[in-house]
Amino acid sequence: MNLQDLPTDLTLAFERQRAAHAADPGPGWDTRADRLRRLLRLLLDNEGAITQAIDADFGGRPAVETELAEVWPSLEEIKGALRHGRGWMKPRRAGVGKWFLPARAQLLPQALGVAGIIVPWNYPLYLAVGPMAAALAAGNRVMVKMSELTPGFSALWQRLCAQAFSPDELTIVTGGPELAAQFSALPFDHLLFTGSTSVGRRVMAAAAANLTPVTLELGGKSPAIITPGYPLAHAVQRIVVGKLINAGQTCIAPDYVLLPRDQLQAFVDAARDAARRAYPAGLADVNFCSVINDRHYRRLLGAAEEAGERGARTEYLFDGVSHDDARHRLAPALLLDPPADCEVMREEIFGPLLPLVPYDRLDEAVDFVNARPHPLALYWFDHDTTRTQAALRKMPAGGVTVNDTLLHVAQEKLPFGGVGASGMGHYHGRWGFDTFSKLTPVFRQSRLNGMALFLPPYSPLMRRLLRLMKAF
Ligand code: NAD
Repeated sequence: MNLQDLPTDLTLAFERQRAAHAADPGPGWDTRADRLRRLLRLLLDNEGAITQAIDADFGGRPAVETELAEVWPSLEEIKGALRHGRGWMKPRRAGVGKWFLPARAQLLPQALGVAGIIVPWNYPLYLAVGPMAAALAAGNRVMVKMSELTPGFSALWQRLCAQAFSPDELTIVTGGPELAAQFSALPFDHLLFTGSTSVGRRVMAAAAANLTPVTLELGGKSPAIITPGYPLAHAVQRIVVGKLINAGQTCIAPDYVLLPRDQLQAFVDAARDAARRAYPAGLADVNFCSVINDRHYRRLLGAAEEAGERGARTEYLFDGVSHDDARHRLAPALLLDPPADCEVMREEIFGPLLPLVPYDRLDEAVDFVNARPHPLALYWFDHDTTRTQAALRKMPAGGVTVNDTLLHVAQEKLPFGGVGASGMGHYHGRWGFDTFSKLTPVFRQSRLNGMALFLPPYSPLMRRLLRLMKAF
C-alpha cells in the first residue's frame, strides 16, 4: 500500500506529526515530562469514566480488575518514565578498545520520530498507555490505533487525548481491520503492535514495505508446569487466579497445565475449591468478567464442546449454570487430557477454559512445550532451584514466573515481550524507552592519538604494530 493510496485524514495526521518532529527533532526533558504529566493527569481525572466505558464494552468487567490490571500499571509506567526519563536520556558511557585509548565512546539516545501503536481489546487502556508512555518519554510523536472491539472506550480515549494533546503530539484513531491495515502501512519510524500472531504477520509485512522496525507483542499458548512434589494446592490457586482474571482474556494467562498424571483429580478438587472461594456467586459474581462479545463466547463454547466430544472430561468449577448467553459469560472449565489436535490444544484459548495435560516423566512436559511455538509466558512450579534453572535454560519463552503466575509482567525492571511466534522486541520501563529510541553509538576521538601512524603509505613501524595488535 503506497502513501497516496491511504485515506487523506490518516496521511495528513502522519505528515503533520512528521513535520512537527522535523521542527523539533531532539525534544528536551521538560517537553517530554510535560507530555507525560498530561497523560498522567488525563488518567487520574477520568479514571471513573474509563472504568465504566471498559465495563460497558465487555458487558461486565469488574471495576476493581480494571483498576488493578489497567489503571495501576498504566500509572506505574508513566510515573516510572517521569522518575527516570531524564536519566534514560543521558548519553551512556561505553568503553573503547585498548588500541583507541584515550578516545571515548558513548551511546546517545535519540528520538526516532513518529511512532505507531496498535492496541488490542483485552486490556485496552494499559496496552495503549504503556507503549504511549515509553514513546513519549523517548521524545517521539505518537499515533495510536485503538481496537474496534472496545468502541466505547476507544471513542472516549480519542476524545480525552484530543483534549490534552495537540494532534501533532498525539493522535488517536479508531476503526476496524481495514483502517488498521492502512494504519500499519504508514511509514512510521517504529511500530509497536499488540495483538494476535496471525495479524502480527500482516503488520510485519506492511511495515517491511517501509523498512519500519516493529515490536510485535503477540499471543500464543502459555503453559504452566507443575513439577512432582510441588505443593499442589498452592500451584492450583495461583494458576486459577492467573487464569480467571479478565475471564482468561489475558495474553499471559496460563493456557494449559502440564502436571503429574496421578495429580489430575487432586487438581480438579483444588481448582474447584479455589474458584468457588474467589467467586462465591459463580457466574453472577461481581468480580467475574464477561467474554468480550458473542463471537468469542460462541468460539469458546464450541471449543469446549469439541474437546468434550473428543473424549476430554469436562469439569466446571462453578456451581449452577455453566454459561449465560445474554451476558456472554462462561463458567471456568477444566478439560482433562484433551487430544493434541483439538482446538483447545491447537489455538490460544483466551477464555476461562483450562486443559490439563498429564505427564509421566517431567522430561515429557519439557518436550511437549518445546515441540510447540515458543510461548509468551511460562509458569514453572518447583522448589528445586537447580532443576528449575536447568529446565528454564531449555525452554525459550517470552517471560517466566516461577511459583506464581502473571507477575513477571508487573516488574518495571524486566523487559516484556515474546520470542518467535509470541513476538519480537520488548518494552516496559527503560526497555520501552530504548525501544522507541535510537541508541546511537558515538566515538569521540581524543586530541592525542596515534592515528597518524596508520595512514598510507604504511610504514614499517605500522606493520610491526599491526603484528602486535594481531597477537593480542
Ligand atoms: P487482533 O490481532 O485481532 O487485533 C489487534 C489490533 O490489530 C486491533 O486494533 C485490530 O483492529 C488491529 N488489526 C486488525 N487487522 C489488522 C491488520 N491487517 N493490520 C494491522 N492491524 C490490524 O487481536 P485482539 O483480538 O484484539 O487481541 C487478542 C490477541 O492479542 C491475543 O492473541 C493475545 O494473546 C494478544 N495479546 C498480546 C499481548 C502482549 O502483550 N503480547 C497483550 C494483549 C493481547
